[in-house]
Amino acid sequence: MGAIRLENVKKTFGNIDVIPGVDLEINDGEFVVFVGPSGCGKSTLLRLIAGLEDVTAGKILINDVDMVNESPAKRGLSMVFQSYALYPHMTVYNNIAFGLKMAGEPKAVIDEKVRNAAGILNLTDYLERRPGALSGGQRQRVAIGRAIVRNPAAFLFDEPLSNLDASLRVNMRLEITGLHQELKTTMIYVTHDQVEAMTMADKIVVLQAGRVEQVGKPMDLYAKPANKFVAGFIGSPK
Ligand code: ADP
Ligand code: MG
Repeated sequence: MGAIRLENVKKTFGNIDVIPGVDLEINDGEFVVFVGPSGCGKSTLLRLIAGLEDVTAGKILINDVDMVNESPAKRGLSMVFQSYALYPHMTVYNNIAFGLKMAGEPKAVIDEKVRNAAGILNLTDYLERRPGALSGGQRQRVAIGRAIVRNPAAFLFDEPLSNLDASLRVNMRLEITGLHQELKTTMIYVTHDQVEAMTMADKIVVLQAGRVEQVGKPMDLYAKPANKFVAGFIGSPK
């Protein structure tokens, strides 16, 4: 289960109101995209949900339990970082297994989970390689594998494809939405790319200056943008 609700979540850095107050409802199993221009607070909002940053005020409910004072580990969400966050000296197997080893899981359990994730991500033949000997797309899949083995309530992606070249990015989009269809786990995906948002999302959250401008299905946003900002950003004809 991965239902997430934000109630009047605020974040200030010093005296700057980066997130003045966000209310948001994410249903279990949804693929939600946070989209907005650079600096609008997408990463901050994701980090607040993950628990990597403390809220200034507000509630973050995961499956109806307020988690604002809980550690990232307790929240049960997995953040997928860009592929460069892999450990270069470790094999693919050990990169995927790392979090489980740290958590002290038995070897046989780790082995089953790593091989299962590798199977889903087409990495079975690459488990003994190091990240330097992989393509960009394969590295990104290893980063996703690290998240899968933890069986999270939700996956949180922060611009995971921005390091990849354009053609690879299109493939990886399909892989991530395919993974969502297979796992049916809640995913929150942050991007500044409107095309990514429109093609991947069940539900888009458009942000500007830390505020939610509109929430809706891609076609609804396109057909009925709430204001000029959304219309301009989504590329709607209005
Ligand atoms: P986005 O991911 O949409 O590009 P961010 O969430 O990274 O935006 O940043 C939103 C705003 O918050 C920016 O103005 C940024 O400079 C500011 N900000 C982010 N993190 C910090 C921090 N740790 N300290 C001070 N300001 C920050
Ligand atoms: Mg960001």
